Amino acid sequence: MLYEKPGDTLYRVSQTDVRQAFPPLRNSLETIAGAARLANLASAVTADGDAVPRVFHALLEGFRAIQGSEDPSLTAALYELEILRFAGYLPHLDRCNVCQGRASGGAWFFSSRAGGTVCTACVKREPARCPAVSPACLAFFRQVLRMDPARLPRLKASASLRNELREVIELYVDNVAGRRLPRTHALLGEGRVSARLGRAGEMVAAEPATVYKRTNSAGHPVGTAG
Ligand SMILES: [Zn+2]
Repeated sequence: MLYEKPGDTLYRVSQTDVRQAFPPLRNSLETIAGAARLANLASAVTADGDAVPRVFHALLEGFRAIQGSEDPSLTAALYELEILRFAGYLPHLDRCNVCQGRASGGAWFFSSRAGGTVCTACVKREPARCPAVSPACLAFFRQVLRMDPARLPRLKASASLRNELREVIELYVDNVAGRRLPRTHALLGEGRVSARLGRAGEMVAAEPATVYKRTNSAGHPVGTAG
């Protein structure tokens, strides 16, 4: 039960019921951290009191997808894009977002400020760091933006590709959210296990380095299983 008073920005919540608990999300640090990032992002892109059903729907679909995924952190990153899509912040990857050129001398960079790819000439004038995006990453990224979200949990990528993609998505999400959101794998790969709750419920999670066996020697996306 939520009580709202006209002119008052604070609501009073007197009762809640759990409609769906998503118990498998608690099975690992990776699923917990992925779900926390989605929830943080959904909160960051919606204004208080504004329901935005499509963003909420994408959040729930993301929770379901993470708990059924073989690669929860990749699935979480891809569903961050789904939340951005419905919040109206989908990145543009078909051209340079500054000069609108379609050629870039073979190299492309990602500018969070510009909202997508920028060419080698324009990247020099960007005020903030713009990571280079490999052709494989760009192709994978474009495929993700075009595909049916229901297929996202089955999407697989090599370790290098998923790291590249996650860096770009995390930088962009920070820009859209207007603050640095906690990283899913801030300490991953350091070989120790820890999880703690920080300020304001921020979660920092780490697991031992995971061995991914889906690596494709060419570094290309392995594609979908269906
Ligand atoms: Zn340009």
